[in-house]
Amino acid sequence: MSDVKKWGDEEFWGLGYEFDPQWILTPHQKELQAKLIELSRTTLRDNAIESDKKLLFPRKNFEALAKHGFLGIFVPKELGGMGENHVAAAMAVETIARYGCASTAMCYTMHLGAVAAALFRHHNNKTLTDILRRLDKDVLIGTLSFSDPETGSHFWYPISSGAEKVEGGWKVRKKASWTTSGGFADWYVIQTTSPDFGGNYGDLSCWLVLKDEVKAEPSKWDGLGLRGNQSGTLEVDNVVLPPDRMVGPKGDGALANDECVDPFFLLCSSACWNGIALGMIDIAKRHTTTKKHVDVGMRVCDYPTIQDYVGEAIIDTNASRALTFQMARAMDDATNNCDWSIHKDLTAAPRAQTLPWMWQVKFAAAKNVAHVTDKMLHACGGTGYKPGLGIERYLRDGKAGWVMGPTNEVLRQFVGKSALLGFESLDYWNTSINERVLANETKKMNSSQKKAFAEKLLAEAQGKAAE
Ligand SMILES: Cc1cc2nc3c(=O)[nH]c(=O)nc-3n(C[C@H](O)[C@H](O)[C@H](O)COP(=O)(O)OP(=O)(O)OC[C@H]3O[C@@H](n4cnc5c(N)ncnc54)[C@H](O)[C@@H]3O)c2cc1C
Repeated sequence: MSDVKKWGDEEFWGLGYEFDPQWILTPHQKELQAKLIELSRTTLRDNAIESDKKLLFPRKNFEALAKHGFLGIFVPKELGGMGENHVAAAMAVETIARYGCASTAMCYTMHLGAVAAALFRHHNNKTLTDILRRLDKDVLIGTLSFSDPETGSHFWYPISSGAEKVEGGWKVRKKASWTTSGGFADWYVIQTTSPDFGGNYGDLSCWLVLKDEVKAEPSKWDGLGLRGNQSGTLEVDNVVLPPDRMVGPKGDGALANDECVDPFFLLCSSACWNGIALGMIDIAKRHTTTKKHVDVGMRVCDYPTIQDYVGEAIIDTNASRALTFQMARAMDDATNNCDWSIHKDLTAAPRAQTLPWMWQVKFAAAKNVAHVTDKMLHACGGTGYKPGLGIERYLRDGKAGWVMGPTNEVLRQFVGKSALLGFESLDYWNTSINERVLANETKKMNSSQKKAFAEKLLAEAQGKAAE
């Protein structure tokens, strides 16, 4: 492979390979990367403009990716996939976001999250195995539908959902407030409270739902950026699913989150934010090295201020990429290079050990892209503010990083709280009592307030006991 990054027959106009951590990639992964750059040049990048302008789902881009086998990038070879690993997945998402289309990169991220959830539990499931075999041949796009309208970015808490055993399978209901590729995907992995739910929201189950079983409202989708990603509402309205549509055993949802959905979403979405940051630096390089100020005879890139902007953006973005790829490699090491056969043992969860690190990866990437988007706009001046340069679209796309769940507010608290108070203090499903807060509040009550409060609690306890 050439050491010179190519854009068609010419040298690439942005940053060269000397600023990419190429040593992390195998020779085959470098070939895949070059293929994705070429696909971006010929197809994905032009479609990105159309997707953004017309709120168009990037199906054409998925078709192009499927032609080269990218929908099954880490599907085992015996199922017709590429048999690649976590590093390859992160590289692919980053490359698509950087040179091609950020909306496609996000839809691809959600697709890979769904593929991981399916691979995790496909071993005794013919329907899942059949989908995995046909991903590229039939361009079967998957996605994850988790976020609930009642619980916002606490996507692990699906209040508006439920499932019960019925004649012929399971009756499943779910309302989702956001679903990337909603109404356009061919298959969905969704999460609900488990059948026989007894009030513990940590008791979750996963389901495979097909496109004709969901109600989506794509016409209502509109967003600041990632406008092609069509993240609208979704409803599964008491649909009866055949028995094998439960993904994994009953109650497997929390483990599936920790082992697959979270690690893959955090890894690939971070790669997407890194790719957007790099895409902006590339454009800023091209623009500032060509734009001249005739009065002083300087190009924009000749001002030290602009050099500082670009220098800092490269350093910060590469720090984020280094962490992202380091964690991808850590997951490769922990899973024998993404060997899905380890999950024949239903308790195997090596990726889950990395979660506290994966929170840091996403926080760093989303924080960085927000900063870099601002600085590259500043570097390109008013020209960057107009759509023609592409900076403006990337800026809007990049803003999704911070607010997508788990949001950066939630992540920094997870990390700080677990470091200070222990992991058990995170209390995802709101079940542990904060005795300090309770004691502090009751301390403020006078005796009649205490009495009234105690009576209220007693009545509630008696009501519960009578239920
Ligand atoms: C482009 C895009 C694509 C998406 N795609 C999908 C998808 O495919 N599937 C899916 O399931 N979801 C998806 N989502 C949803 C996403 O993951 C979040 O659920 C959603 O962004 C939450 O929005 P909200 O308005 O409910 O935020 P809220 O949850 O109401 O948050 C509002 C503010 O409160 C803060 N906050 C919330 N909880 C806490 C806390 N415990 N501590 C401190 N601060 C807190 C937040 O950080 C934020 O600042 C997508 C979102 C976007 C923007």
